[in-house]
Amino acid sequence: MSTNAELFERARRVIPGGVNSPVRAFRAVGGTPRFIARAEGPYLFDAEGKRYIDYIGSWGPMILGHRHPAVEEAVHRAVDQGLSFGAPTEREIELAEEILRHVPSMEQLRLVSSGTEAAMSALRLARGATGRDMIVKFEGCYHGHADALLVKAGSGLATFGHPTSAGVPAAVVQDTLVLEYNNLVQLDEAFDLHGAKIACVMIEPIAGNMNFVRAALPFMQRLRELCSRHGALLVFDEVMTGFRVGLGGAQALYARALPGFAPDLSVFGKVIGGGMPLAAFGGKRAVMEQLAPLGPVYQAGTLSGNPVATACGLATLREIARPGFFEALAARTRQLVAGLLAAAEGAGVAMCGDSEGGMFGFFFAQALPQKYAEVMATDSARFNRFFHAMLDRGVYLAPALYEAGFVSAAHGESELQATLAAARESLRLAD
Ligand SMILES: *Cc1c(COP(=O)(O)O)cnc(C)c1O
Repeated sequence: MSTNAELFERARRVIPGGVNSPVRAFRAVGGTPRFIARAEGPYLFDAEGKRYIDYIGSWGPMILGHRHPAVEEAVHRAVDQGLSFGAPTEREIELAEEILRHVPSMEQLRLVSSGTEAAMSALRLARGATGRDMIVKFEGCYHGHADALLVKAGSGLATFGHPTSAGVPAAVVQDTLVLEYNNLVQLDEAFDLHGAKIACVMIEPIAGNMNFVRAALPFMQRLRELCSRHGALLVFDEVMTGFRVGLGGAQALYARALPGFAPDLSVFGKVIGGGMPLAAFGGKRAVMEQLAPLGPVYQAGTLSGNPVATACGLATLREIARPGFFEALAARTRQLVAGLLAAAEGAGVAMCGDSEGGMFGFFFAQALPQKYAEVMATDSARFNRFFHAMLDRGVYLAPALYEAGFVSAAHGESELQATLAAARESLRLAD
């Protein structure tokens, strides 16, 4: 048996940084990443046989927990019928119908293989459909790693953003405007200056890539008004929130609070694949029919709508659409956050937290952050100590303070109590 440290050493020889996606490397919190050998229900088991309660859930998809029998059976059945055809299948229609049934803002969607691909395609579609180039995003929101979206704010509104990655030409991001999340004044200014040139505004409605920050209702309302008035498309990136905060995604929450509210385009991933590579973007028919083969906006994928991935996603969505599923998941998640806050209070540590459906966040701070700068100003040293103390006690939290957490339907009362007992100890130690 190899230890995690041995595997990490070996991995670093053949894979840059030893990982195939950077946050897995534990750079933010330090230490050795755990190499996962298998998973079951709410648990992960690492290469050394140590068991962890899993609050990452593969970064969101595993909403039913690991190895759910209905999902496994659907995948096995699909495998028996062939792995990939490169031709349309009935299951793609079924999955599209199942997703559209829950998301009334969309009349059509297209399936792709990753959230990055879906966001990138939605962007191209928005630009193609409006005939405009400029796009707006918000600091702290992540929409995958497409060039035009790897941008941080420039020094002023008129100057546009700077690439956040080497290899992204300045020219590629020169049409990307980066604004502060929840900042109404900047939003108004941006539309005053550039309204007629903006193809779309892309937003994480609950930003899970800065842990857990909600777009305030007045902000979202204003954003919708401005987009409509200036002919820009409002694109909801629900790769994380979709079928995670509730069946209709975060847009259902905003529609409940703001009657008639709907985004123009939506991007989904993570839960809709149930753990397999699958994502989607969709919207009204008139916009979606701008895509090839009907329209001039090119988009394609060899493995798009893969028969095994669609089987996995479909089985997952059918389970979470059962009556009462989200009520129970949301209650469990609220109970977790309330327990963490109580533990922190007991330890005299400033903590705040929030949750929606099966997604949660907590911060070592006096008040819930409203924007990226406030997230990054929370107590990172304490977070890192807490993270490792929890990991030592068999609780696997996201290894960075700017990442959301996820509860699955497999997390029961005993996992919850074990987590909170670990938290009480860890908060004392992390002091
Ligand atoms: C995870 C994520 C993406 C990227 O999805 P990948 O499948 O990792 O490419 C895009 N947007 C949001 C909001 C995400 O959370």
